[in-house]
Amino acid sequence: MALLGLSSGALASLVAAAFASRVGLPNPVDAHVLPFLGAGLLALSIALWRSPRLLPWIERTGWSLLTAYLLAALAYKVIHFPFEHVPLGARSYWFFFSYLLAFLIWSPRGALTVSLSVIACLTGLAAWISVETHAGNATLLASLIQLVIASIAYVFVHYSFAQLRPQYARMRTLAFSDPLTGCANRRRAEELLALEVSRAGRYARPLSLILFDLDHFKQINDQHGHAIGDAVLRTVTNAVRSDLRGLDHLARWGGEEFVIIAPELSQARAMQFGERLRKRIAALRIGSSIQPTASFGIASFRLGETVDSMVLRADRAMYRAKAQGRNRVELERPQTAAAEAPETVPPLEETAATAAAPSQPD
Ligand code: GH3
Ligand code: MG
Ligand code: MG
Repeated sequence: MALLGLSSGALASLVAAAFASRVGLPNPVDAHVLPFLGAGLLALSIALWRSPRLLPWIERTGWSLLTAYLLAALAYKVIHFPFEHVPLGARSYWFFFSYLLAFLIWSPRGALTVSLSVIACLTGLAAWISVETHAGNATLLASLIQLVIASIAYVFVHYSFAQLRPQYARMRTLAFSDPLTGCANRRRAEELLALEVSRAGRYARPLSLILFDLDHFKQINDQHGHAIGDAVLRTVTNAVRSDLRGLDHLARWGGEEFVIIAPELSQARAMQFGERLRKRIAALRIGSSIQPTASFGIASFRLGETVDSMVLRADRAMYRAKAQGRNRVELERPQTAAAEAPETVPPLEETAATAAAPSQPD
């Protein structure tokens, strides 16, 4: 955006300067400062193109050049023609562009400061014209005062919006996260899942859903109290979070049930991942006697299916893991082929005994 803005600003200034010198406009600021502005913006575009990390410095310099030009052109008009009964002209519209840019470039407070400095210069010009003409040039004076008042209104409205923005961002974060564990809440999970399902469907990419529910969690609450139950939820979430890839999303689906949305993870890899998470949770020790475990249900995306169907399949698999004794990872049961790969990754203890079982194809 900055590169586009600077280069088109440079082009516009150079074209306007060429036009001004050709038709011989009376304002020497246009004749002398515009080429300088155009050359300056062009130099800044080239600098930005070559070293993008200079962006903060370049945008501030570009803003200063533009605003200095606007002020110089206006000052020339007011100081040299104090008795001319014409309004300020179209160039004054550009001051609002300058304020807008200031809020894009600086922090709200910084933008307020630089914008108020510009307004102070405009007010100085209004005071000057009033003294110079003994308030005799009402047209020019009224135009300047209008510009000052409109500028103040514009800058303060902008400042208020800029102040509200971080609050909106904070409210958005609160609305989408679970206060106990800090991970995404169900609302956010549903949103992410819809997005990932549509992406997986569109580009025919793998996507897995890993649902897990803590086993006999009610007993933990009953035996140790609700506060310890909360601590268990936090510990489990942190343990799982440390194993996620950057792409994965962990969310609290409800109560002691969580979901991992894992894009680009095939069914077989999701089974391995679920198994690793199962072991990690089972290895946790909270206090002297709490050893949480969880039951996992996994569903991998099938082309054309909906979010609801995928969640239902993961849910069924998770309930099957519960029914088969808990602390297990289960894959949703394939509807059709009996020839499909084995759907259960046995718990750690059983692995040695079933070592001869065929492994999951990727
Ligand atoms: P299962 O192995 O079949 O899942 O048994 P369970 O005891 O885990 O399942 P059940 O649905 O009977 O109990 C879930 C418990 O989780 C009941 C509820 O009070 C507790 N729970 C839900 N949310 C929270 C929470 O935020 N904090 C605490 N401490 N407990 C919670
Ligand atoms: Mg449970
Ligand atoms: Mg539950």
